[in-house]
This record gives sequence, structure tokens and C-alpha cells, in this order.
Amino acid sequence: MERPKQPADIARAAIRLLGTRRLPPTPDNFQRAYAEVAGGKQEKVDSAQAEVVKPELRWADAIRPLMKQMEAFQTGLTPSKKREMLERVLINFGHDSSQLFEKLTGLARSWSESGGGSAALDDRIEPALAQPPAATSAPHCAFENERKEAGVLVADSWPPLRQSLVGNLRVLAESCSKAWPDLGERAQQLSGAFATSDAASAAHFEELAAVWRELVIRAEDDHELSAGLRRLVGLLFLNMGELVGDEAWFSGQMAAMHSLIDGKLTADAVHGAELGLRELVFKQGMIKGNLDDAKEKLRSLIATFIDRIGAMSDDADGYHARIGVYSEQIGQASDIGELSSVIEGLTTDMDGMRHALRRSHGELKDARAQAEQAEERIHALEAELMQVTNLVREDQLTGALNRRGLDEAITREASRADRLGAPMSISLLDIDHFKKLNDTLGHQAGDEALKHLTRVVRDFLRPTDSLARYGGEEFLIVLPNTHLDEAQKTLKRLQRELTRQFFLHANDKVLITFSAGVAERALEETQAALIARVDAAMYRAKAAGRNRVECG
Ligand code: GH3
Ligand code: MG
Ligand code: MG
Repeated sequence: MERPKQPADIARAAIRLLGTRRLPPTPDNFQRAYAEVAGGKQEKVDSAQAEVVKPELRWADAIRPLMKQMEAFQTGLTPSKKREMLERVLINFGHDSSQLFEKLTGLARSWSESGGGSAALDDRIEPALAQPPAATSAPHCAFENERKEAGVLVADSWPPLRQSLVGNLRVLAESCSKAWPDLGERAQQLSGAFATSDAASAAHFEELAAVWRELVIRAEDDHELSAGLRRLVGLLFLNMGELVGDEAWFSGQMAAMHSLIDGKLTADAVHGAELGLRELVFKQGMIKGNLDDAKEKLRSLIATFIDRIGAMSDDADGYHARIGVYSEQIGQASDIGELSSVIEGLTTDMDGMRHALRRSHGELKDARAQAEQAEERIHALEAELMQVTNLVREDQLTGALNRRGLDEAITREASRADRLGAPMSISLLDIDHFKKLNDTLGHQAGDEALKHLTRVVRDFLRPTDSLARYGGEEFLIVLPNTHLDEAQKTLKRLQRELTRQFFLHANDKVLITFSAGVAERALEETQAALIARVDAAMYRAKAAGRNRVECG
């Protein structure tokens, strides 16, 4: 390939060479690349240049500051903007080495002077780029536009930019004030500096860049820390779960923590989980307190019960011994007179025994009634505790299982099916044209329709089946111990049931139909694979015209 001869072409080729080699455009790298493009070795370049460049033009003096300024920061000048400006100069003045030399030097100077404030930038750049040669009219126009554009950008956009910068820096200072007070302080000072001085200095921008860099580094550290904490909390809950086992009150809290750890960890999610957990802990604490009281009462009742029985048996032992004595006295008595004292004693003892028995019987009856009451209360409280715990598994609107409850149900039923070698099917149903129902009857009616569907499906299913709200108007049914054809029949019967049990809206009968997919779980098939199959089948049912059931 022919080597470029003109300095502008050599410079352009040198920049391209740096790009292909992924070398930073430092003055030294550029000089080496320039030399290589121009003719190999540095010494050769100098001599080659000597032929084409006038001796007074020292290109290194033009290019070195240019490269330095290329890397430096200037208000309103992005690196790509600078590259474009350089390209324009090369296009417009490339054929005339002395003009090119002058313009390149001017460009570097204008960039170097532009750090002190953008308002003045346009004026400073202008002389450097002025007077393009008359012969190059088309490029000249393009260049002129570019120059104007740069000027407009800098002059007009700085005031609003400054305002937003000041505002953002204040927000940054505020939000850093707790975690990183030093950065907060620096952001605050910067905000003050930008707010009070019309022309922001390069030092301010350097400080802004430094604060930003520091912020990025700390945020990355923070991210690492939160990922570590998340792993730690997950581990902690895993261990606690194993320790506590199936305790119902704890599983609710576990569920809340798991959904937080598994999901996207945002401030909102953490806040929401915290509120939910607090409420759960509070409710469970109250119920558990009552439950503990009721259990304690039952325990003390049982203790009284045992005491009473003991006392009765002590009394009975005493009477038993005395009856032995009486019977001996009766055996030895020679006349009826001797017996009268025995009979008197016996009568008194029998009266006493009857009283004691009546009292004990009454006390035992009371104690038993109290024990029964306490037991009933314990059952009621346990049911309440279970209900609170289940809230984290239920969809709030319909009361069907939510995604977490569904996960648990599928996992439980799948492992049962694997263990027993029993079939298991699932079905995904999606209400047809539900958006239309919402649009015509209103969102509230849509909500009621979802509740109605849930009621009908729940009443229709077996107690061992589970119903979960999978998405907006999509429901998933788990059918344990069910083969595919039975599942399909069940869903078709359910469709007929819905035509009998209309949804009533303002006394109007509204027919709800759905399209469903059904699939039978293959041995050891994962939940995700099974759901993907049933989802595809549901879409086929939609595509085939809706209000039908397709097998996956
Ligand atoms: P298709 O027969 O293809 O399923 O049509 P569609 O209109 O049922 O389906 P689409 O997915 O377009 O619309 C579902 C609608 O369900 C949109 C959304 O507004 C509504 N929706 C989702 N969740 C709720 C909810 O909780 N309450 C109410 N009222 N509407 C909901
Ligand atoms: Mg849908
Ligand atoms: Mg739908």
C-alpha cells in the first residue's frame, strides 16, 4: 500500500494505527506511530519530514500539546467533539503544511485555555479555527457549522446545566451524609462553588470528577458488601430453618426473608419486607402470648386434677384402713351394744366419704370443663396463628396461593409423586378477553370477577388440589394423583361449571371463559420445565380460538 505523503494524511493514518493497536494516544505513542506511517524508523522520519516540511515547522511542538489536550478535561468539550474538530482542521488545512501547523497549534492552545469556564470558550476557540482557506468552500461551510454548534452548546447550555449540577450535588451531599460524610462534605462544597461562581474553574471540574470516581469505587465496595450480607443472611435463615423445623409461626417469617433474599434487593423491597415482617412478628407475638397463657392454664388445671385424684385416693386409703378395723371390731363384738359405736363410726366415715366424693366430683367436673375450654382456645389460637402465617403464601385479592405458596405446593406434591410413584398434573388457565371486561365494566368489577372465579374453582376442585394466582388473570392448578386425560376432563368440566355459575355484575350475568393448558409431570421433571410446557399449551388454546383446553 502506498505511504501517505502529506503530514495531515500521515497524522490521520497514525491516529488510525493507534486505534487498531488499542494504544492510548499519548504524545510519545503518536510520535512513534507517525514515524512508522511516514517511513519506519524515527531517524528516517525526521529526514523524510525534512523533505516535505519546511525546516521552521517543528511538528512535535504542534502534536505533543495537541495530544496532551486531547486527554485533558475541558468544559463543554467531549473527546469525540475534540476528535471531530481535529478532523475538520485536517480536512480544511491538510494540503498546506504551514497552515496546518498553525491551526493545530492554535487548536491545542484553545483547548488548554478552555478549562476556566465555558462562557469564554467560544471566543478562545474562534481565533484558532478562523480563516479557513477560500478554496475549500464546502468543507469550510461544514466547519463553520461545527464551530457555531460548539459555541451554541457551550454558551446556551451552561446556565441550566449549572443549575441542575448544583441541585444534583446537593442531593448527593444529602444522601451521602450518613454513609460517607467526607464525600457528602465535598459534594456540598462543590455545590456551593458551582452555585456562587459564574465561570466554573477546571479545578472544580477536577474535584467533581474525583468525587464521582470515589463514589463509584465506594458504591462498588458497597455492592460487594451487600452481596456478602445477603449470602450471610440466607445462610443464617437456612440454619435457623433446620433448627426450628416445621414450627408454623416461624415458617411465615422464613418465607418473607426468602422472598427478599431471592428477589431484587432494592431499598423499597427491604423496606416492604421489614414492614411485613414487623407486622407478622407483632401479630404472631400477640397470638403466641395468648397461646402460651392458655397452655399454662391447661397445665395448672391438669396439676390440680392430679392433686385431687391423689387426695381422693389418700382419703380412700384412710377409709379402707378404718373399714378393716371396723370389720375386725364387728367380728369380735359379743353383743349389739358393742356394735353401736362401730356403726356410729362407720356412719360418720361414710358420710364424710360421701361428702368428700361429692366435692371431688364437683371439682373434677369444673376442672374438666375448664380444661376443655382451654383446649378449645388453644385450637382457635393455633388456627389463627396458621392463618397469619399463611398470609405470606396467599394472594391478597383472591385468597388463592401466591407464587411462593405455589412453589411450596408444587415442590411438596412433586416429591410426594416421586416418592409414591403417583401421577401429578398441573393446569394453567388464563381468562379470555379480560382486558375487555375491565374496560367495559371497570377495574373494580374485574377484581370481583377474579374473586368469583377463585370461589368457583375452589368449590369445584378436590380438597387435595391447590389453586394459585400465577399472574394478573392467570391461575395455576396443581392436581395431585391425576393423569393427563383426567386433568383435561377436569378442566373441561370446570369450564362448564363456569357457564352455570355466572359472575353477577349490577344484576347482569357476565360469562367468564378461560383458555387452559394441562400437562402431566414427567418423573423428576423440574418445576420450570413443567410450567414451560403447560404455558405453551395454554397459548395453543388461545391461538386455537380460546375457551378450550390443550394438552402440553
Ligand atoms: P386474552 O384472551 O388473550 O388472554 O386477552 P386478555 O384481555 O385477557 O389478555 P391481556 O393480557 O391483554 O389482558 C389481561 C388484563 O388483565 C390486563 C390487565 O389490566 C388485567 N389485570 C391484570 N391483573 C388484574 C387485577 O388484579 N385486577 C383487574 N381488574 N385486572 C387485572
Ligand atoms: Mg394473560
Ligand atoms: Mg387473558
